[in-house]
Amino acid sequence: MPLSPEQQAEIDTLRAAPQPTLRAVSPGLEAHLYTAHQVLDHGFVRVIDYMGDDAAICQAARVSYGKGTKSVQNDEGLIRYLMRHWHSTPFEMCELKLHVKLPVFVARQWIRHRTANVNEYSARYSIMDREFYIPAPEQMAAQSVVNNQGRGDALQGEEAARVLEILKTDSMRAYDHYEEMIGQDGQQGLARELARMNLPTNIYTQWYWKVDLHNLFHFLRLRADAHAQYEIRVYADAICNIVADWVPFAYKAFEDYRLGSVTMSAQMVDCMGRMLKGEAVTQESSGMSAREWREFQDVIEKS
Ligand SMILES: Cc1cc2nc3c(=O)[nH]c(=O)nc-3n(C[C@H](O)[C@H](O)[C@H](O)COP(=O)(O)OP(=O)(O)OC[C@H]3O[C@@H](n4cnc5c(N)ncnc54)[C@H](O)[C@@H]3O)c2cc1C
Repeated sequence: MPLSPEQQAEIDTLRAAPQPTLRAVSPGLEAHLYTAHQVLDHGFVRVIDYMGDDAAICQAARVSYGKGTKSVQNDEGLIRYLMRHWHSTPFEMCELKLHVKLPVFVARQWIRHRTANVNEYSARYSIMDREFYIPAPEQMAAQSVVNNQGRGDALQGEEAARVLEILKTDSMRAYDHYEEMIGQDGQQGLARELARMNLPTNIYTQWYWKVDLHNLFHFLRLRADAHAQYEIRVYADAICNIVADWVPFAYKAFEDYRLGSVTMSAQMVDCMGRMLKGEAVTQESSGMSAREWREFQDVIEKS
């Protein structure tokens, strides 16, 4: 269980005390506020706060004195236009603050997204929990033979059982030693800031992460993508569901013009044109490297 009964009670108390406000409210996101959505075995994503809604994007784009929205159709059209033409600053007017619990190795990938504000749980000040990410059997996959940065089929039988056992025992042993080092039974106890250094990167950490909608879409474009590692992708997928409820027009435009779109090089566009005219273009006659040609084939298959 990612949340203790005390933590759940704190959330229930917050949810039971709504306040009247003059600020923009997104009913879809209000339903998510404070609620923890489980991700992986012990992780979660939960919305702590937000600013803006679909209308706030239009309001900023029109630099309006009032609400800034027109008809629903008009607003959706404007949002789709902004997204299509990379007019990104109106999307920066919306913000989302999340509380995320995630394994340290996922946090290392996540923190590369520099355009957010982060405050992480302090393992200098506090004691880490005995919680480690152990992949589900179907995720315990072999090294991919075609992609150095990926995984292939799931390990089977004895090998899968042996790997699982190593992951579990190493995690528990490292945590036992951590507790032993900080313990004060007849000893001074090593400082927490030093004792933590032996803990493996599958241990869970937590942070508050605040980001504007433009940069959140950039994060989701990269991390909800099939090329992203599964363990960060599931967090991105959970956030996608939340954003779809928060700003439905903007999310739909993002799905259509970013997530589901493809980028083609000048050579790809040229080849596509030649193929549409009936020419049998090959890699040799395409002007593309073998790798780019493969990527072009993927684009064609996707369409
Ligand atoms: C599938 C995948 C594989 C990856 N593999 C690796 C890897 O092997 N090794 C590795 O080190 N990283 C890797 N990364 C991380 C990747 O290189 C980026 O660091 C990460 O995705 C964050 O992207 P970003 O810089 O665009 O995001 P953000 O930091 O959120 O920045 C958003 C945008 O703001 C602008 N920006 C922000 N800061 C600056 C700056 N200081 N100067 C100029 N412009 C700035 C840029 O336009 C940037 O695109 C990988 C990422 C993915 C998705």
